[in-house]
Amino acid sequence: MRLITHGCRGSIPVSSSEMMKYGGNTTCFELITDEFQIFFDTGSGFQNAILNPNKEILVLFSHFHHDHLQGLAFNKYLLKPETKTFISSALVDSEELNKIIRRYFSGVFFPLDIFDNLDNVTFSNFSEAQRTLSVGFNIEAIKLNHPGGSYGYSVTKDDKKCVFLCDNEFTTSQADELKNFSKNADIVIWDGMFTEEELKSKTGWGHSSLEQGVEFFSDINCGQIIISHHAPYRTDAELDIIGNSLPNGIHLAKDGQVLKL
Ligand SMILES: [Zn+2]
Ligand SMILES: [Zn+2]
Repeated sequence: MRLITHGCRGSIPVSSSEMMKYGGNTTCFELITDEFQIFFDTGSGFQNAILNPNKEILVLFSHFHHDHLQGLAFNKYLLKPETKTFISSALVDSEELNKIIRRYFSGVFFPLDIFDNLDNVTFSNFSEAQRTLSVGFNIEAIKLNHPGGSYGYSVTKDDKKCVFLCDNEFTTSQADELKNFSKNADIVIWDGMFTEEELKSKTGWGHSSLEQGVEFFSDINCGQIIISHHAPYRTDAELDIIGNSLPNGIHLAKDGQVLKL
């Protein structure tokens, strides 16, 4: 199983010569094996993902803030009839999911009612999505703390486990449940948008700090933590300084990075 980072910027895509290294695309991660592709969110980074019609393709939405949804209609492979794709979220049922996505990519916000004619795309309840993939996969969801709601996911196959926890404002009341959910993961993707200092004035914005990610890592038995949802104003130079100060096993997400589980 491999994890590909297609986008790890928070809130809004950025384009700047000072942000080339970590990238400007918003949240999109892909888990890929010989049989399947699972996407965590479709921020602007989703436009660069190559969907293979011979694989089972599942898109899991944490929630529907712009930075996690805006790339969905910009992936040219999704628009091909042979690319059968399931879209799901633990946050809403299939009917509501269908409504949200069709509304977002229609009329007022988008030039075409693009999801009206995509017969290859199926909106599924999360329980159906859990059963959709080949036998041997285990997909679980966990409620996160974020304005409007958000869900994290874990995907396990052949003793390899990847956990995605974006977007989330970490609280001590969720600590035990979150630690249990992330236990023995090979990779945990952590929302580390803010520094601890910045977080003081960003209570209620729905994001955690890098430092909380470091503390979380020291409390659980997991392979590595990837810190993502980088603040849109954070330059490569600033991220390099932060990255160099992180303990072993904690890394900053980067566009285009491929990690083997
Ligand atoms: Zn976000
Ligand atoms: Zn959000």
